Parts: sequence; C-alpha cells; structure tokens
Amino acid sequence: MEIKELSVNGQRLRESMERMAKIGATPGGGVHRLALSDEDREGRDLFVRWLEDIELDVTIDEMGNIFGRRQGRNDTLPPVMSGSHMDSQPSGGRFDGILGVMGTLEALRTLHENRVVTERPIVIADWTNEEGSRFAPAMVGSGVWAGALKRDWAYDRTDIHGNRFEAELVRIGYKGQAKCEKRPVHCYYEYHIEQGPILEREGKGIGAPKGIVCLHWYDVYLKGEANQVGPTPMEGRHDALCAAAEMILKVNKLPERVGGNLVATVGEIQNYPNSRNIIPDKVHFTVDIRSWDDDHALKAWELLREDFEEIAARRGCPITIEETWRVQHSPFDAKLVQRILDIADHLGYPNLHMVSGAGHDASYMNQVCPTAMIFVPSIGGRSHVEVENTRWEDCEAGANTLLHAVMQSAEEH
Ligand SMILES: [Zn+2]
Repeated sequence: MEIKELSVNGQRLRESMERMAKIGATPGGGVHRLALSDEDREGRDLFVRWLEDIELDVTIDEMGNIFGRRQGRNDTLPPVMSGSHMDSQPSGGRFDGILGVMGTLEALRTLHENRVVTERPIVIADWTNEEGSRFAPAMVGSGVWAGALKRDWAYDRTDIHGNRFEAELVRIGYKGQAKCEKRPVHCYYEYHIEQGPILEREGKGIGAPKGIVCLHWYDVYLKGEANQVGPTPMEGRHDALCAAAEMILKVNKLPERVGGNLVATVGEIQNYPNSRNIIPDKVHFTVDIRSWDDDHALKAWELLREDFEEIAARRGCPITIEETWRVQHSPFDAKLVQRILDIADHLGYPNLHMVSGAGHDASYMNQVCPTAMIFVPSIGGRSHVEVENTRWEDCEAGANTLLHAVMQSAEEH
C-alpha cells in the first residue's frame, strides 16, 4: 500500500474545533448546541462558509443535512462520503460529532491546498439531529436519508415545548430544497471519539470498530398496592418499588453472571404516586442490553425475565414487559476496517480492532454502502458531559488516518 506524504494541519484542526466550541459554550467547558436551535444555526452558518472557502459545492436537503461536494476526475462515479454531526447533548462535550465533521473538513482543506485531484468526488456530510435529545429519536437525518425513517414522521417530532421539527428547521433557515433520499455512494467513513475507556486503557491512539453492538430495549411495568405507610404492617405489603429495586440489581449483575461481551443498564424509572407516605403501587423502568452477540443478549434477557417473574410473583406485584426496540449488531465493511488499521500502522499510530458500544450515523450509512469508523481516545472514557476531552495529538492522528482512508477510496475505480 502506498501512502503519500500528505498530512493534515493539526493546528488548523484545533483552531476550527475551538472556534466551533464557542458556539453554545457552557460555563463548565462543554457545549450546549441542540439540534435546530439558534446555536445549531450559528454553527451551520459558519460550517457552510468554510465549505465555500474551499470551493465545495454545498447542498442542503429537506431534512437540513448539509453536504459539501468536491469534484473528482471522473465526476460521474459515486462519491466517497465522510461526516458526522454538529448537534450536541444538553451540556454535552466539545468533541462528540463535531470532531468527525471538522476532521473531514481538515482533510478536504489539505487536499485543496495541495491541489490533489482524486478519481472519485468526495462529499462531506453534517447529519441533522444525531443526538435525539431535543427531538427523539436519535440519528433522524441519516435515518431518513438512508430510507430507514420517513421524512414526514420526522417532521412531526416535537420537543418538550411542543415545537415541531419541521417548523424549527424552517425557522433556522435550513429546510433545503434537495430531496432527502439515498443515492449511490462508494463508501462512508465516520471519524468519532470513542466515548469509552478502552483505547486509553490499552494505550492506543486509533481504534477501528469492527461494527456496532446490538441494542435491545425493554420497558417493565409493575403494579403494587398503595396504602398509608404508617398503619400498614410490613408483612403482606405489595410494594412495586421494592420489586423494581430487586430487579434493577439483577440487571446490574447480569453481565457478570453470563460473561462475554455484554452490558446491561436501567437508566430510567418512574415511581407512582411518588409520595413519601404512600406505598408505591406503580413503577415503570427501562432495560438496555447491548452485546456484539445478538443470541448472547437474547439468552441473557431470558434469564433476566425469569428472575423478574419470580420477584414479581413473590412480592405480589403483577408485571408487564414490553420489547420496545431491537437492533441487531451491525458489522462494518471488513475491508475498510482493515484499511484503517493498515493506514494507522503505516503512519506509526498504535491501533486497536474493537467494537462500538454506541450508535452513530454510520449505523444507517452501513445499510446503504460499505462503511467504517475511526475512533480516537476519550480522556477518562467520559462523553456526553462537559469534561469530555481528547488530546489534540490524537485528534490530528485521527484526521490523518481519515485523510488517507478517504484518498485511497477516492482513487478506486
Ligand atoms: Zn456522536
């Protein structure tokens, strides 16, 4: 494999990241740039200006996805695509998403200033509303583009104030003309922070995930019997919250019990009537199970379900379980993943073949074309928080790896 001596400008990448971090900056050093907010608009305006500075052909589609296209020698060939998202979690970090967009921009700036012409066109993408924190669910921009979600359904999503997605898209001036639908793409890369502790722990600068783990969501509803807490003896109570407490600990112990690559979490709970002097008679909680191995996750869930039913029966709290959402694990394109590892080797960056525990726009793109991701370490494994951080050397290394991966793909006939 031939790797040209081209490298990105790490200082320029850092300056772009720092400039973007000012938009929606929080006192704790993070970023609050929710999808389709005024801050999102300000970030988009700046991004579009930067795309025009390097003579990219800018398109905005009807979901607000922004694309910048760089001509190829053979311009009718399907393009190489690379991108991520610029929206953030509420009080999120300065790296999640934006690093993949600025990293791609830096790669394109490098090609531009060196007057490199590639065989295929290259397209940079900023996908709308990846986080799903203002408008649920996540990844709607890429989801509609990939044909997995319906545009009008996405338009009807509302935030907690009742604002419609479409109205907000119009308000910030980013409801574009282009149809939001997939077209032929040669391959897709997404450069992203790891959002976990593995790379740091292993002392590796670059990660290439072989794919994204499966995701199984459940909703559990328990019924108890409400009563005044003082006069009601402990014997014979049907306390739905105590039943839930036992179940939640079973979820937490599940990975240890079944072994293998699996994580299990209860992240949300509602307790009714949620009063200090009434025995809880209604509880709802969620279960999230993720694994590289779908069967393993399903078998683990069956064990958990048996436990839940035993606890519910013993405590006299009838249980209802809903299987809310199941996404199978999704392997990336093995050839592209290997390419990223090989490039990292050639550039002298210690690297790791791993899995991604989080969903990304790359999950939907993986349904459309060969796809791979590049990860760089998250300091302390922290993400979706203001202290989210990645070393600038690692940001530069990731952008160099991306630059060469994109160039190689763009030279393929
Ligand atoms: Zn992200």
